[in-house]
Amino acid sequence: MEIEALRLRGFRNYEALDAAFVPGVNLILGDNAQGKTNLLEALVYLSTGRGFRTRREQELIRFGADFADLEADIAGAERTHTLRAVLFQGRRPRQLYKNGVKEKSFAALSGTLTTVLFCPEDLLILKAGAEKRRRFLDFALCQLRPGYEKALGEYQRLLEHKSRLVKDWRERPEYLDVLPDFNLRLCQFGAAIIAYRANYLEKLSRLSEAYHRDFSGGKETLRLSYRTVSTVENPLAPRLEIERALLAHQETHLRAELEAGQCLTGPHRDDFEVELNGVSLKSFGSQGQVRTAAISLKLSERDIFRDDTGEMPVLLLDDVLSELDAGRQDYLINQLRGGQVLITCCESRTCPNLGAVLHIAAGAKTGWELGTCKEAL
Ligand code: ATP
Ligand code: MG
Repeated sequence: MEIEALRLRGFRNYEALDAAFVPGVNLILGDNAQGKTNLLEALVYLSTGRGFRTRREQELIRFGADFADLEADIAGAERTHTLRAVLFQGRRPRQLYKNGVKEKSFAALSGTLTTVLFCPEDLLILKAGAEKRRRFLDFALCQLRPGYEKALGEYQRLLEHKSRLVKDWRERPEYLDVLPDFNLRLCQFGAAIIAYRANYLEKLSRLSEAYHRDFSGGKETLRLSYRTVSTVENPLAPRLEIERALLAHQETHLRAELEAGQCLTGPHRDDFEVELNGVSLKSFGSQGQVRTAAISLKLSERDIFRDDTGEMPVLLLDDVLSELDAGRQDYLINQLRGGQVLITCCESRTCPNLGAVLHIAAGAKTGWELGTCKEAL
């Protein structure tokens, strides 16, 4: 799928923008604070129904404006679709349209434009605590697997209930009667979650290892290893086996849970470890290495999505080139072949597969030119 055009009115620092994109690599060029990331944010909004830098929709509306209007033409396998979202100041709910037809919920728009975004905050996937890594997995898997989204939702609901049981059982001893039932169901949904995550991580590890190796000129080996509940010896085993392992862990931790008043066992504490040449990336990785690894994860995420759905998501790369040495920058730009890519940059650069350059200054388009790549046309 490809973004053909984007029209913005009153979005972030854009009063009005009409931009066109080509199928290959689109460079979005401008000085700091001109609106490059804002443009990507508008596309992410039309793709996911949310801004990626804020939860507060109001912040997306241009200061002093009454509403923000975002519209994009997306070329799909069969036809071009138009997605539109209008956000209002105050309490008035947003309006969503697909091909001019008003839709009640974002579900009707979702899937028309799929994107894989790399932004500097993604470095936290590799640098911060386990929660960021779980969110990365959950986000990718929820887009790909409706079964995962359902299992995760159920698991979280059950976990919330169970948290109350283990916290308040002293005042309400009858809670202990229902606890085994909650534990059993948590293990059932938990086993499903672990199976999905283990499969996804296996693919992700294989692909990102190859990307990272090429990125580093063959010098670095990236490895991802899934860390889940300790009694699960093989997270790729049949689900019943995982479920049994979870129940066993559950049993040995019951007393500790009741004493601590917390849920201590289950995949809500999952993590994956990232190693580079056998040592922890989090502890020892350089800035460039962390960035290279994060980009490798994103390129792999895009490949998995394409293999699964047959559609290549649009790759949105924000500030991706900084901190990379010339070799890694060249490799990345050459890797961008295939599929549409929008990449923000502060300095003009030439590269053989450049499709078009969009110049942005102070929330407006100041120029647009076709690049050197004939294929992109
Ligand atoms: P950099 O190269 O530094 O990353 P950028 O081109 O990506 O810069 P953006 O993050 O897109 O810059 O933001 C540019 C400007 O948008 C900021 O100066 C910010 O003040 C402004 N801005 C953000 N939200 C709004 C809004 N709701 N209304 C008006 N301006 C806004
Ligand atoms: Mg930016």
